[in-house]
Amino acid sequence: MQQLQSTKAASLWSYFLNICAIPHPSKHEQQLVVWILNWAKEKNISCIQDKTGNLILRKPASTGYEHKTPVILQAHLDMVPQKNSQTTHDFLTDPITTVIDGEWLHADNTTLGADNGIGMASCLAVLADNTIVHGPLEVLLTTDEETGMTGAFGLQADSLQGKILINTDSEQEGELYVGCAGGINVNINLAYEKMESEPADSAYEISLSGLKGGHSGCDINLERANAIKVLAGVLHNLDAIPFHLACFEGGSLRNAIPREARAVIVCDRQYQNSLDIIINNLHLDLANKFNNIEENIQLSVKSCDLPSSILTNQSQSSLLNSLNNCDNGVFTMDENFSNVVQTSSNLGVITQNKGEQTSFDIQVLVRSQIEEEKHSSAEKITLHFQNHNAVVRQDGNYPGWKPNPNSAIYKIMEEQYSRLFAKKPETMVIHAGLECGLFSDKYPHWDMVSFGPTIKFPHSPDEKVHIPSVDKYWQLLVATLAAID
Ligand SMILES: [Zn+2]
Repeated sequence: MQQLQSTKAASLWSYFLNICAIPHPSKHEQQLVVWILNWAKEKNISCIQDKTGNLILRKPASTGYEHKTPVILQAHLDMVPQKNSQTTHDFLTDPITTVIDGEWLHADNTTLGADNGIGMASCLAVLADNTIVHGPLEVLLTTDEETGMTGAFGLQADSLQGKILINTDSEQEGELYVGCAGGINVNINLAYEKMESEPADSAYEISLSGLKGGHSGCDINLERANAIKVLAGVLHNLDAIPFHLACFEGGSLRNAIPREARAVIVCDRQYQNSLDIIINNLHLDLANKFNNIEENIQLSVKSCDLPSSILTNQSQSSLLNSLNNCDNGVFTMDENFSNVVQTSSNLGVITQNKGEQTSFDIQVLVRSQIEEEKHSSAEKITLHFQNHNAVVRQDGNYPGWKPNPNSAIYKIMEEQYSRLFAKKPETMVIHAGLECGLFSDKYPHWDMVSFGPTIKFPHSPDEKVHIPSVDKYWQLLVATLAAID
């Protein structure tokens, strides 16, 4: 670890290694909280924990900076606990082991927690170092960001006095984030009527797999295939065969583009050959349609056990029509930022309840940087499924962070970045949720920006942070604090 101690960000690194030594997976941040509370006491830094579990630390302005705009540095306390199957690591008790590999730091078969541990370490390093100049300073460390943004949701509207918030939870050096999307869940329950299948009929399972999937916000503009939509389209194209649908399932997470879906259909055995041929042709059509996007798309059909019940004709057409005609993917693009999606939806999951109350549960996530568009899109999807007699409920609403073209903190950081590194940073808006969206709801006057070092594969055991980018991150942070007016 000597290599880290010889960088400009040496103190940041020593705090980061401290953080790694204390378990702090989401919802189990208390050990780390106690450590920080004790640390602050020793350093004579004011530190309180709010009702939700967030920590707020305060340090007076440097001499001569008392009249500057008060600033808040922000990170989240928790990390995502993911490990490879061969390791016995226990996230509740074991420290994270760090490994240097060239210019990268990673963990030993687990997540590293550089997301957002580097940001958190930088906050502590700023508080501890009296040679760094800044105006009145608050540090906000939120709890449980990764599994529901609990800390940001629970933050009181009057706990902080700062007027600028610098979020440290972005993952690409050289990029400054000025906006993010909000989201809302649309939960659809579509009841269906069933009838008994004909014992003489045969059943076939049609599977779609091999798709790339990806993040339902960040990857939604890549035109990847949505397994549920594509399979519904395949069934729609089977109209030459009189079939009955027995099963339809696909996707696993609302916020991931579905990679797999499967259906079971029942029909007379005489159609088996035609079915094979049609599925084969549709497979070729799909491979053509998604050429260069989905190289491994697989559509297959095989015989399976005859299910005891099937959907009635009316329920079957209601399900397939509602899936086929449901808007999905990119709705609008941001006018001010190139290649940034403004509003989108992801039909992420469909599951089937075969018990007494037969129905399909369908999960959709709508995202937008613009509140009104988010709500109108969610409403449109709601009405669409209600027209098919579904019961639809919206929940999980959280606000986006609308980009502010006149942001003073953005201009300061852009200037400092250009001065330090002789090039301009990229201005970014992320089509996914950041805590800033929730902050903008409670503190609408805050001028916010988000930045961070380069972190690859966060939330997976491959997570790694680029050591030289941490140096640049630290230099930009220190320069920005000194330059705020
Ligand atoms: Zn994070």
